Amino acid sequence: MRRLLFAANWKMHLGPDEARAYVKAFRARYNRREDREVWFFPPAVSVEAAAQTARDRGDLLVGTQDVYWEPKGAFTGAVSAPLALQAGARATLIGHSERRHVFGETDEDTRRKMGAALAAGLLPMLCVGETLAERDAGHTLAVVVRQLAAALSGVDGAALSRVVVAYEPVWAIGTGRTATPEDAGAVHREIRGWLHGRGAPAPRVLYGGSVNAKNAAALLAERELDGVLVGGASLDPEGWAQLVQTSAA
Ligand code: PEP
Repeated sequence: MRRLLFAANWKMHLGPDEARAYVKAFRARYNRREDREVWFFPPAVSVEAAAQTARDRGDLLVGTQDVYWEPKGAFTGAVSAPLALQAGARATLIGHSERRHVFGETDEDTRRKMGAALAAGLLPMLCVGETLAERDAGHTLAVVVRQLAAALSGVDGAALSRVVVAYEPVWAIGTGRTATPEDAGAVHREIRGWLHGRGAPAPRVLYGGSVNAKNAAALLAERELDGVLVGGASLDPEGWAQLVQTSAA
C-alpha cells in the first residue's frame, strides 16, 4: 500500500494557544487513515502544546522547524535536538529554504544539524531545492545532489533510512508557482536513486512549493511523490484537513 506523508510547516505562525486550538480542530475533521500520516512543524514555542494535543493519535507527529547542532550551552536563541525532543518533537526540518536563504545557513550547517538530529533520535526531514537562477541555468540536479551529499555525508544504512527528503524548489515556495508533476517526478527519481545507492532501501521523498487543496491531487498522482510539505495552505485546520484527505489516484 502506498502510504503518503502530509507535512505542515507553520513557519512563524501559531503560538501555543493557537496550536492547541488548531490541532483540536484538525483532529475533529480528520480521522486516522492507514494510507497516510500527518506531521506538523510548529514554531519551537508551540511544539509542546501541539504535541500534547496530538498525544493519543499515533498517526499525527509533531516536529520542530530547526535545531542547532550543539546539545546545550551558551547559544542564545538556539534550540538543540535534545531540547526539542523534551518538548515533544519527534522530527525536525533541516535546511529549509528559508533557513538557507533568509538566515544564511550553509551546506556544512545542514550536515552538523543532520548529525545532531540523528544522534538525538529525531526524524530529520531534509529540504533541498534549487533557486530560479540555478534552474534556468540547468543546474537543478547538480544543486540537489550537492545538498544531499553535504547534509548526508557520513550518514548511511539504518540512519539514512530514517531521513525523509523534501524537494522544494526555492522558486515555488510561497509564490503560487508549482513544479509540474513530471518535473518534480524527474527530480524525485534522482533523489531516490541517490539515497538507494547509499543504502536506503525505501526512501521517502516529498514535494513542497505552493501545494494547496486544488493542485495536490494532480501532484500526488505522480507516483514518485511520497507526500507533500506544505506551508501557507497548512495554516488553517479545516483547509489542511481537506488537503490531507486528497485522494491520490
Ligand atoms: C514550505 O514552507 O515548505 C512551503 C512549501 O511553503 P508553501 O507551501 O507556502 O509554498
